[in-house]
Amino acid sequence: MANNYNNNNVRIDPATGLRIINFSAGPGLMPVSVLAEAGQSMASFSQGHGLMELSHRGKAFEAVLAETEADFRQLLAIPDGYSVLFMQGGATLQFSTVALNLVGADADAKCDYIVTGAWSAKAAEEAERLLGKGRVNVVVSTKKSKHNGDVPALDQWKFSQKQAYVFYCDNETVHGVEFGNKFPFDAIPSNVPLICDMSSNILSGPIDVSKYGLIFAGAQKNMGPAGVTVVIIRDDLLSPSRKCATQPIPQLLDYNTYSTSQSMYNTPPTFPIYMCGLVFKWLKTEIGGLDQMSAINTAKSSALYNAIDGSNGFYVCPVNKAYRSRMNVCFLVNPKSPDAAALEKRFLAEAEAKGMVQLAGHRSVGGVRASLYNAMTLENVQILIAFMKEFQARV
Ligand code: PMP
Repeated sequence: MANNYNNNNVRIDPATGLRIINFSAGPGLMPVSVLAEAGQSMASFSQGHGLMELSHRGKAFEAVLAETEADFRQLLAIPDGYSVLFMQGGATLQFSTVALNLVGADADAKCDYIVTGAWSAKAAEEAERLLGKGRVNVVVSTKKSKHNGDVPALDQWKFSQKQAYVFYCDNETVHGVEFGNKFPFDAIPSNVPLICDMSSNILSGPIDVSKYGLIFAGAQKNMGPAGVTVVIIRDDLLSPSRKCATQPIPQLLDYNTYSTSQSMYNTPPTFPIYMCGLVFKWLKTEIGGLDQMSAINTAKSSALYNAIDGSNGFYVCPVNKAYRSRMNVCFLVNPKSPDAAALEKRFLAEAEAKGMVQLAGHRSVGGVRASLYNAMTLENVQILIAFMKEFQARV
């Protein structure tokens, strides 16, 4: 094993001596400088303690938490009047938490779900399970088709008359469908909280937080390791009147528990929070902020989509151009060929042999998926593109 790590303790491909290019959809790759610094903090972080050995109530960890939150707020320009909470249970637990905390007491109001892929579909299903079908309205759904990256026109969306909240997923990780600034914000009345799952594109560029009631994101794509979920909530949504009136909310699923205790009601996930803090510093200092990050992300994904679109149909991205994700680029290998399945397998195996790993699409949709999270470099995307061209010319 020792041979598989370089001097910075960074995993390398034993065949090529290069760091493996990790296209995983999550947990995703992290900046090398962050991994190296975290490696050193393991054994010694503060006064002879390793980072993971610190008491969460001690001064050293308190400082980590405060700085992590401050940097996050600065990066996203979070306005006053919003709380930042550090929770556990992944983004999936937020599907339950949102429903229980925000459905409100008015039995006529519905929770509106915009379903544009696997994750928003799951969120809607969980809300229905907890609240009953009568409280949930699916505004629009593209769930049925395997590779349907086409978001129906707004005039086909069926909002409820009385809305408790509107939920959507900004970047559907499985299907490679992203709204970004194309989300029709004007279609949501200003008094209806807009709830967004940003697990797979948070911090990929600037956003206007003031358009949202609540944003949540699991850490393990653009922020840090799995284990912490970051929630941004507008403070008026912490009011008891927003909560489910028909069943009690477990204490650790109540947003108020976190907001009144600075996420320290019980032991928070100290290590993932620390890692997020390092990533936020990397974004601020090495990248230069979210405008710069956004430009890099556009350069990476445009290069790859251009290569796909310029391949004369050998590579095909099934997602409508308007909604193509900058984070998860999904494509098929020569889908019209009678041996498309074998070709795809060969593509994945050969890419892996060259150190480009985790390129297989989600098991529910197949195909190829290259996840280009923040820590993915343009140089590494160019290596993938060069391989794609060489593969096409050869087979
Ligand atoms: N939402 C989105 C957009 C995701 O990509 C994922 C995970 N891939 C989830 C929710 C679920 O996250 P978790 O596994 O952290 O519960």
